[in-house]
Amino acid sequence: MSFLNVLREYEDFDFDGYFKNVTDEMIISSINKKVLNKFDFLNLLCVKAKNHIEIMAQKAHEITVANFGYTINLYLPIYVSNYCSSDCLYCGFSKKNKIHRKKLSLEEVEIEAKEIAKTGIKSILFLTGESRKVTPLEYLCDVTKILKKHFSFVAIEVFPMSQEDYEILFKAGVDGLTVYQEVYDKKIYKSVHVSGEKSNFEYRLDTPERGAKAGFRSLNIGTLFGLGDISQEAFFSGLHARYLSDKYLECELGLSLPRINDAEGDFKPNTILDDVTFVQIMCAYRLFLPRADINISTREDANFRDNLLGICATKFSAGSKTEVGGYTKAKTEPQFEISDKRDSEEVIHRIQNLGYEPVYKNWESI
Ligand code: SF4
Repeated sequence: MSFLNVLREYEDFDFDGYFKNVTDEMIISSINKKVLNKFDFLNLLCVKAKNHIEIMAQKAHEITVANFGYTINLYLPIYVSNYCSSDCLYCGFSKKNKIHRKKLSLEEVEIEAKEIAKTGIKSILFLTGESRKVTPLEYLCDVTKILKKHFSFVAIEVFPMSQEDYEILFKAGVDGLTVYQEVYDKKIYKSVHVSGEKSNFEYRLDTPERGAKAGFRSLNIGTLFGLGDISQEAFFSGLHARYLSDKYLECELGLSLPRINDAEGDFKPNTILDDVTFVQIMCAYRLFLPRADINISTREDANFRDNLLGICATKFSAGSKTEVGGYTKAKTEPQFEISDKRDSEEVIHRIQNLGYEPVYKNWESI
């Protein structure tokens, strides 16, 4: 049994027909439940649920405070390479884009790591484009060992691997895995992932499970809003998170809500996720998954992020750079444009001013 079997159950499901029959009473009943089933979750994702968004936000806030207190976990991304052997229409690193390519040497990784460590943040996510050839497993292990000297929690967002390769990275010190399915609609997936390894929908879908089996203690997943139908994509990503958290009890599950920002190339999103629907989905995630981390990145602008913080966000990047070598001087084009351009100090002060405690370190492997 894998999540693919779960997805198959919905191949003929009439989402529009279901949403048409959702009533206000059904939505209120779903909001008030302690444990929501998948139909409750769907009820919260229908357009009509926007009429109840204030109550959803209040409930989402209460559940978040009960599970996480008034805390926000901090992390920073480090891009170590922008070489990629795949062609994804929406991404600035696509092999088709004529951008300056760069892979950090291990010495450069150490210099960047030291610069990032000055913020005091102890959690780092390291990313590459998806090229096994340029950034092979051995390089990723070497990068991990360097980062582990400066950070207590290291996560990866790199090309999907086998369980055996993940086990090697786990032994090298990787604690967490981020992998976005990008879009759960298989037809759309095929149309935007034109060539390269990433065009394998099923292999990517099973990637978080291989990571969990290899021992990673934290998994972060999500859909890239802008590719598929908004409600259905939100539903499948929430369902995927529930499937993983039910099956891998030892793993902490996190969800991100990236929406397409400007990047190299001329890709125009198929769908637009507006701010109100963003909040609705975030609250629906929280009600359906009370203990999941909800990660809000610097793709979102400063004001919007600050507002989300008081609802149910639990994880923030602060002062992110999405260029290879972005924290020092070896700059390249970013993977996507960030919207919150504040430095980490500013973000951290704002979190404190809003009555939350920024968490610099929440994990130490022994
Ligand atoms: S989304 Fe990932 S695999 Fe696709 S082009 Fe960008 S870096 Fe490469």
